[in-house]
Amino acid sequence: MTERLLIEALDRLAANGKHVDLWLRDDDCIEPSDALDAFLGAAARHQIPSTLAVIPAHTGEALAKRLEREPDVLVTMHGWSHENHAPQGVKKRELGLDRPIDVVEKQLQQGLEMLTALHGRRFFPMLVPPWNRIDPAVVALLPALGYCALSTFGPEKAAAVPMLNTHVDVIDWHGTRGGRDAAVLFAETAAICRPGAAIGVLTHHLVHDGAVADFLERLFSLTTGHPGCRWRSAADILASPAFPADQKT
Ligand SMILES: [Zn+2]
Repeated sequence: MTERLLIEALDRLAANGKHVDLWLRDDDCIEPSDALDAFLGAAARHQIPSTLAVIPAHTGEALAKRLEREPDVLVTMHGWSHENHAPQGVKKRELGLDRPIDVVEKQLQQGLEMLTALHGRRFFPMLVPPWNRIDPAVVALLPALGYCALSTFGPEKAAAVPMLNTHVDVIDWHGTRGGRDAAVLFAETAAICRPGAAIGVLTHHLVHDGAVADFLERLFSLTTGHPGCRWRSAADILASPAFPADQKT
C-alpha cells in the first residue's frame, strides 16, 4: 500500500492529539478548461479548499465567471506574465533583478489591482512567484504594495511578509513531466508531518495526467476526515494565531 507511510504518520499525530494543516496550491491558471474542471471537481467532491495561482496578464472575466460557483477557491497572484527574464544559463525567473526594480514593482501593483477587480473578495493578496523564485529586494516591496503573504517552494524563511510555502510537487518536471510516483509523494508528505506544520501540495492542472489524478484522489480520500490532519485555505492558515511560529523548520 503506497500510502502506508502517510497513514502511519497521521495516525501517530492523532494518537498524540496533534495534527498538520494541509493546503492545495494550483499554479498557472488563466482560463476555464476541462483540466481546470477536473481539478476543481476532485477537490470539491472532498470539500477541500484550493488556491489558484493566476497569471494576471493572461487572465480575464471568463475565469472569474467560472469560479463564481466555487465556494472554496481562492485566487492569488502568479507573477505578472510568467515571463522569464533571466540571462541564458541562469534558472528561469520573472521576479529577479534582471529588469529595473520599478518595472517589476509597477507590474506587481498592476496585477494586484487587476485581480482584485476581477475576483473581489475571492482574491487573496499572496504572491506566488513564477518558478518559485523572487529576489529579496522584490520581497521587500510587498508590504507597501498591499501583499500579505508570499508562497514559494520548500522550507519557509524569514521574509518581509509571512511565507506559506508548498512542499510536495506532484509533477516530475525534470523527467517525464507527468505525475511523480505516488509512493514517493506519500513518503515525502509523511516525512514533513510535524505537529502544527502547514504542508502545501503543489499542482499544475494544465499538465495533470492519470497518475496525478489518481494520487490526488487517494490523498484526498485518506486525509479528509482523518483526525491527524485538516485541509484549510491559505487565508485560514495564515490567519491562525499559531502561524507562522509553528512553521519554522
Ligand atoms: Zn507557474
